[in-house]
Amino acid sequence: MSQDKQTKYDDNNIFAKMLNGDIPYHKVFEDDKTLAFMDIMPQAKGHVLVIPKQKTCDLEDLEPEYAAAVLMTAKKVMQAQRQVFEREGIIQMQLNGSEAGQTVFHYHLHLIPSNIHELGKHAVEMADQKELAEQAKQLAALIDA
Ligand code: AMP
Repeated sequence: MSQDKQTKYDDNNIFAKMLNGDIPYHKVFEDDKTLAFMDIMPQAKGHVLVIPKQKTCDLEDLEPEYAAAVLMTAKKVMQAQRQVFEREGIIQMQLNGSEAGQTVFHYHLHLIPSNIHELGKHAVEMADQKELAEQAKQLAALIDA
């Protein structure tokens, strides 16, 4: 195991603050076990993150019921992304540990409408907030339909 693995969950991480309602975000979907929202620095148009409502840094400690719930939410989001962004290709990505490049230590699944050879840089460029709000609205409308 990597020496730098973050083993202790930090209650002040940015996704914990979202779950607590302390900071704004562009919500796509929420149920009792998961939350999906637009990535603020997308690697392609329509990049969404799905998080469990379980406090866990990465996959190692993700409980089975939350793992299942994250995947069920991911399926809903992915189907909506295919329609809204008219792309069949949706990359599912998830980083475990800083050595892998993880920057926020609350487990999250990336869903990125793109091709692996076209993927933009990770967490570099901020998106336009109005565009993110519009994309979240379009995705949410399809999921709720
Ligand atoms: P990772 O490096 O896998 O931990 O990914 C963290 C992701 O969170 C990156 O893709 C960031 O762009 C994204 N991110 C960081 N802060 C926020 C935020 N406030 N709202 C939405 N996404 C964020």
